Amino acid sequence: EELNRPTIFKNEDALSFNFVPKELPEREEELRELIRVFRNVLEEGVGRKQSALISGKVGTGKTVLAKKFGKMVSERDKFDYVHVNCRRNDSETKALFKALREYDKDFPKRGYSAEEMIKSLFSMLKIRGKYLFLTLDEVDFLINKNGSELIYTLSRLSEDEESRFEDRISVIYISRSPSFRKKLDESTKSTLRNNLINLNDYNRSELISILEQRVELAFKSGTVSDNSVDLIADIASNWGNARFAIELLWKAGKKTDSEEINKLVPEHVRWAKAETHPEIRREVFEDLDKHHLIVLLSISKLLLGNEKAYVTTGEVKNNYKLTCETYNKEPRGHTQFWHYIRKLSKSGIIDTSVSGEGERGTTTEISLPDIPAEMVNKKTKKFLEDKKENQN
Ligand code: ADP
Repeated sequence: EELNRPTIFKNEDALSFNFVPKELPEREEELRELIRVFRNVLEEGVGRKQSALISGKVGTGKTVLAKKFGKMVSERDKFDYVHVNCRRNDSETKALFKALREYDKDFPKRGYSAEEMIKSLFSMLKIRGKYLFLTLDEVDFLINKNGSELIYTLSRLSEDEESRFEDRISVIYISRSPSFRKKLDESTKSTLRNNLINLNDYNRSELISILEQRVELAFKSGTVSDNSVDLIADIASNWGNARFAIELLWKAGKKTDSEEINKLVPEHVRWAKAETHPEIRREVFEDLDKHHLIVLLSISKLLLGNEKAYVTTGEVKNNYKLTCETYNKEPRGHTQFWHYIRKLSKSGIIDTSVSGEGERGTTTEISLPDIPAEMVNKKTKKFLEDKKENQN
């Protein structure tokens, strides 16, 4: 039955996060740059140690750029590529374990120090005559939890103990922050100096190229209107985020299928956008505690029953007190309340702007940057309910 349902997709996988397309539109230059950084390793095998840092905001193609590089190099016998996400592998040993497992499926999970693991990795590479490109993606998670020990150890082993360990591991760091380098030891910092690849936010026309490629790969011919692609690029260019653009495309496609029609049009995009707005994603909500949520709930309630595009902090504060009662919470004082507002504003869920003169602090206007209040309201309630359950 499922199989017979009409669909406009021909290969939905081409829209998944892990998919690496054959070509990377708008990142060809950065790919060449990465090859330039590692040209010694690539040309002569035994590299003078090099490492690179790819930085840029969410969805600017950091991961896919590194993976694309990895695919290219591992087509050659001498080279291997391992991509470790440090959010999921947030300790040195976890990160190294991921790499070691590529060579030895039975490598024990426990019982080895990071240094011993690096040594094992070196010798496995040596026996196989391989050179490894190791990417530490979202490396901030590793550093924040473990400090830069692993990175230091990696660079020290290959620098000072060259007689004992041939230089076989080149590292690609990925971080959102271009200043990530500052957190590292002097030696690694200086190797990175000329090897910084910062990815800019995508503009509208770049997003269109990326989207057109995915339309071609993922959809049956003629099922996606150009207007829809333009609209997605318009929306996603506010964040410069290709991930968001591709997600919108996918969701709009699913919506089209659910209506059992064979053309994706702008209305499907609008629908997808309302569902996918990045500001309303799980991560953002997970970062809020009960009081933040209650304040947000108040804002959404006021905006729901209101013709206005914004509410004032005075109104929100009164409503917050009432809403606290519903959730059996003691309302916090003025200063705390301002912290909540600031936090919500920083996370991008709400927009705040100070209007006119008047008493300081009471005339701030709050709005939801084109997110339906009803959606915020529902989601906030759900998270508050979840928190209640978790406490019991
Ligand atoms: P980041 O790691 O910077 O958050 P990703 O590399 O995960 O971003 O990219 C987000 C999504 O956008 C992925 O699905 C990726 O394949 C796609 N993407 C990003 N840049 C490009 C590009 N230049 N060409 C094709 N797809 C891209």
